[in-house]
Amino acid sequence: MSPDLKNRILHVDGDSFFASCEIALNDKLQGQPVWVGGGRRGDGIVIAANRVAKKFGVKTGMACFEAKQACPRGVLCRPHYDEYRRISAEMFQVLEQYSPMLVPISIDEGFLDFTTMDSVVWRHTTPEKYVQEICERISREVKIPVSAGLASSSRLAKLATDAAKPGFLEIKPGEEKEFLKDRSVRELSGIGKNRQRSLAALGALTFGHVAGLPSTLLKQKFGIWGQQLWLFANGMWHEPLLLEVKDRTTISSNTTLPYDEPDYEAALTFALSEAARLVGQLRREQMQARELSLTIRFSDFSEAGGSHRFREPQFLNSVMNARVEEIFRATMNGQFRPVRQIRIAFWNLERLDTQPTLWGRTDAERWGALDEAASKLDKDFSRPDKPALMTGAQLALRQLDDVHKNPKAKCPFSPQREIVKKLWGTDADPLAHKGDWEKRLAKVSKQIQFNH
Ligand SMILES: [Mg+2]
Repeated sequence: MSPDLKNRILHVDGDSFFASCEIALNDKLQGQPVWVGGGRRGDGIVIAANRVAKKFGVKTGMACFEAKQACPRGVLCRPHYDEYRRISAEMFQVLEQYSPMLVPISIDEGFLDFTTMDSVVWRHTTPEKYVQEICERISREVKIPVSAGLASSSRLAKLATDAAKPGFLEIKPGEEKEFLKDRSVRELSGIGKNRQRSLAALGALTFGHVAGLPSTLLKQKFGIWGQQLWLFANGMWHEPLLLEVKDRTTISSNTTLPYDEPDYEAALTFALSEAARLVGQLRREQMQARELSLTIRFSDFSEAGGSHRFREPQFLNSVMNARVEEIFRATMNGQFRPVRQIRIAFWNLERLDTQPTLWGRTDAERWGALDEAASKLDKDFSRPDKPALMTGAQLALRQLDDVHKNPKAKCPFSPQREIVKKLWGTDADPLAHKGDWEKRLAKVSKQIQFNH
């Protein structure tokens, strides 16, 4: 890359994403104050509110009943996480057509590398028009409003988006320092309370203040980070966009039951069903686990639990389930309080090599083939309310009680791993697919022909 080629990074972020999804799913909500509730029954605290609701003073984190008091004609939506993930994937599918490099960072946020756009794509248009087109296309096709920021680094682009919301803001090369001057250092993503306090002690509340400090002082106080912060505040921080897909190191689930469960057998069924779901996810990511733990939280918020370390990493549902059951029974021995929450974690993960040859020689190979077939069946025949395949525990859970039917209480989402896999069919290093890159570049240039 030539040294005078300036990094241009676009940050795209869905506006009140969950609330926008609910509106996209139900046209009647258009223009109304809408918020999405979290918690056990989807009416605990507000986890997202649209702009109309925010005007009435509804805020993320407030109790749903308070929101209702603040805005009596507002609509409370229970969360539909599967739909949010589907809409998120659609949004990223549009985005990836505009740059050879897309880095998703959360369910509704991502970065696009626009570094080489200046000389080719933007010769016939302006960045502003180009980005506006992208945003309009997302709002037309995916029905989600998005905001965007364009700048010389991903951090700055994110700040630009926050400043632009709702809309688009470009920080042109050379204008970085001016843009940052009066902004609080608090806005920088990932800055901790301690660093904020130490900066305040130096009299640095804004980036302008930081820019005025001697860089050696910042380096002395904060090491490399301090130096980078100084460069950033002075508009001299340039950083290429990198996509790093790291292997998972742990997988866990932490679920509050729909009500405090006095029946321990029912709680066990729930735990086994959750364990099966986690093992399934591990298998899809071709991982196996060496250690597991189970923690039970009771209705009085006291906790008990245990863990186990296998001699060899494990990937079989039956092995994991047997261990979870053993820990569960040992933990519950002598207990009497109802179960409020169940936490299961697998860690010490390793890659699992299960090339699915149909008649594999090793257990791992045969299970790999079976897995492949199972996930294909599931993909082809499952409906959200009616999975094609279930483990015994999952089936038992279904028969147990209606409220357990959809026990997912939250939105598990590992953006890079999932989206990268969805878009490119692999979670391996995307740089390994140079052929694909050319295809994607071709797509970008097609887009240009289309526009002009
Ligand atoms: Mg957002």
